[in-house]
Amino acid sequence: MELLEERIKQDGQALSEHVLKVDSFLNHQIDPKLMQEIGKEFASRFSNESITKIVTIESSGIAPAVMAGLYLNVPVVFARKRKSLTLSEGLLTASVHSFTKNETNEISISKKYVNEDDNVLIIDDFLANGQAALGLIEIVKKSGAHVAGIGIVIEKSFQDGAEKLKELGIRVESLAQIAALSNGKVIFKPEKAE
Ligand code: 5GP
Repeated sequence: MELLEERIKQDGQALSEHVLKVDSFLNHQIDPKLMQEIGKEFASRFSNESITKIVTIESSGIAPAVMAGLYLNVPVVFARKRKSLTLSEGLLTASVHSFTKNETNEISISKKYVNEDDNVLIIDDFLANGQAALGLIEIVKKSGAHVAGIGIVIEKSFQDGAEKLKELGIRVESLAQIAALSNGKVIFKPEKAE
């Protein structure tokens, strides 16, 4: 997605060979117009999949997921990283190790909002080693729902998350694919021809 790549080139900061900072439009300050275009793009890529629900993880997955939900006209459920006082029963959980925070969280969603009738699109901001996506797949599967695919805003293709997901036979659609972060520069994988 050209608009997104341009924005990453303009505002993204390669903090190291492994970590990209995009807190001016996605991870802290959020650009609603860009999120809207991202949501539209996810909706178009998954328009033939009869999606009934989107599942994401707090907090940075929520903005792109809500916009995709708007265009696909389906509800959005976000997995929580911490237990809530008002949400403690009927939870589906999985353990997820965070790449950026180097901590393990028990993530959870309520059984009330995802069930065996659902065809779920999972959305997240970044794909690195795939731990967040695998945790989300695990809880969606525990609900009995079907995983129709995964939509990622920024895939770091030099890490093995995308490979792991494709090995599971899951469709992965990443709007920007980064081949390398090198000397402070972001190098993109060329977009596939249609
Ligand atoms: P994974 O679970 O695939 O290893 O990592 C994905 C999660 O870690 C995402 O939910 C995202 O929050 C965070 N993450 C991984 N790599 C980066 C990165 O380079 N920059 C930022 N901002 N977040 C990242």
